[in-house]
Amino acid sequence: MISNKTRRRVTILRLIIVIGILLLTTTCQKSPENHSATNEPSPSPAATSTEEAKQTTGSTSDVNVSGTLQESRHNRDNIVPRIFNVLTSETNQAKVTFEVNKSTDRFKINEIHGTILNMVEQVLDRFPIKTAEKPEFLVLEKDGSGKLLEQPQFYGKLSLIPYGAIENGQLLEIVVKALAYESEPWVAYGLAGILSGVQVEVDLGLIQDTDKLFLTGISYEEEYVSDDDLAASKALAGAFMRYILADYGEVVLMELIENSSSLDVYDALKAWSGETNAYFDLHPGVLYSTYSYSDAPGYFVRVNDGNSNFYFRMDLPATSPLKNPRTIYAFLDRFHRAIEKVSKFALDNQIDVIDSGFHVYTNSTDYTFRSGMVEGMKIQFGQDGWRIGLEHEVIHAMLGTRGVGTNEKWLREGLTSLLADKVIFGPEIYEMAGYTESSYYNILRDVKNNVVDDSYFRLSGTFDFYKNAVGYYTKFASLEEENGELNYDVYVDSAAYAWLVYCDEGQISPETAIIPTISLHRVSLIYEVYASYVNFLIEQKGIPIADLVYYYQTEMPKELTEYTSEWLEYIRGNWEG
Ligand SMILES: [Zn+2]
Repeated sequence: MISNKTRRRVTILRLIIVIGILLLTTTCQKSPENHSATNEPSPSPAATSTEEAKQTTGSTSDVNVSGTLQESRHNRDNIVPRIFNVLTSETNQAKVTFEVNKSTDRFKINEIHGTILNMVEQVLDRFPIKTAEKPEFLVLEKDGSGKLLEQPQFYGKLSLIPYGAIENGQLLEIVVKALAYESEPWVAYGLAGILSGVQVEVDLGLIQDTDKLFLTGISYEEEYVSDDDLAASKALAGAFMRYILADYGEVVLMELIENSSSLDVYDALKAWSGETNAYFDLHPGVLYSTYSYSDAPGYFVRVNDGNSNFYFRMDLPATSPLKNPRTIYAFLDRFHRAIEKVSKFALDNQIDVIDSGFHVYTNSTDYTFRSGMVEGMKIQFGQDGWRIGLEHEVIHAMLGTRGVGTNEKWLREGLTSLLADKVIFGPEIYEMAGYTESSYYNILRDVKNNVVDDSYFRLSGTFDFYKNAVGYYTKFASLEEENGELNYDVYVDSAAYAWLVYCDEGQISPETAIIPTISLHRVSLIYEVYASYVNFLIEQKGIPIADLVYYYQTEMPKELTEYTSEWLEYIRGNWEG
């Protein structure tokens, strides 16, 4: 029987031999060129390096190069919030740290340490990857939350390596991924493919797939793809990188790895495979340098677009709408479109908005029943809520507050609803969401035709409220046509009218919608009631929308609530007139 230790040595030896052979077979190629001339400012979000920072990593003079293991302690940090003893070493190429405890086999650690340093050196000898900061390896039994670490995790320059991965032959791929941490995932996996020397048959037809979007970053996230697809993604990357090395040369390859390439990757992909992809036709940048990817505590993946961070996970995988590369990129595209449209509106109206630096969390089951919630720079979306509420929450986040901002709910929600549903966006939100059947128009129409009843709504009594709104709405606009066009002004005024009826019946003062004596009215169309008043201020009182946004962001002048009786008279007058 072979002992574990022997088997491990055999594995490690085999890896060293593979790399050795590779080095032998590749030394005949020209040595990599000096890249200092090609260090132009990079368009990539991940490459934040400066000239000086890059030079530090490449130099051999100023760091402890002993590479001997020393005892130390890991303190809590964001990624691994545990305290434990470590053995750590640093060379001019990498920092390597091992979690240790009483039962740790020091001999085994020395052996693994030697293997990692050796592998790092060999990879960098062949492909001298320069990074902004020195790569760090942390070899662990358990992850940040104390659970057994089963898969490697990558956090920019820091990579967490499970002890287990060293013994099952994954190490070369992990080391390459960790060293090439600034590159697109397919570039890093492709490089690992080249170095492994293993060539796998690939199916180029896969490139057409618009759901799986092979070669995009998410197609390398194991939670979002099957094992077979993950293997296919890696094989495609290896084959594509071999093609690039052969047809474009080593300089282009190194620029790809260092995320400074201007190669049209999609063009190269088409030339190589003879295949196209309908999504890449529209978004070729998704293949290179638009996004960077990282693990994130509590999430499957964090995507950075150079401006904001997006956190993805599936709390309920069976029903999660963000479940594969296509749906995740569609979410990102829609978010970016929202930012763009709000920015344009802000520019046209000379309004200050925030357009970057957000932390966007998705699929949280904490927010199942709401579209989302904005707290400062944090946007939290519920599992499904973003489908209808994305634009609305983005507006809240972009308007932000200067100082405290107004606490007046009618202004915050009324103005945001008006912007989302009329001024900046509109019914296209329901089309983007794939929920046209529950658009404002179609719900009014369903109530009118008694296709739904009170059980359809979350709040009881809503059906009667809607019936009154429909009465008002159909006096001024039509609900005849299926999927007809919503008259938004009439719609929000119809909610205000239903509110008047509701208040009459419950002996509530209707002005409390705007001047609240109680904190919250639990009425389904209350945001529309608020929007009706905001719309009245703009359309009837001539208050510029930019002023309203400014009050939203700072403080509301008391006079703004002085038109409530005039507004309610106006609604009543419309109804009776
Ligand atoms: Zn809101």
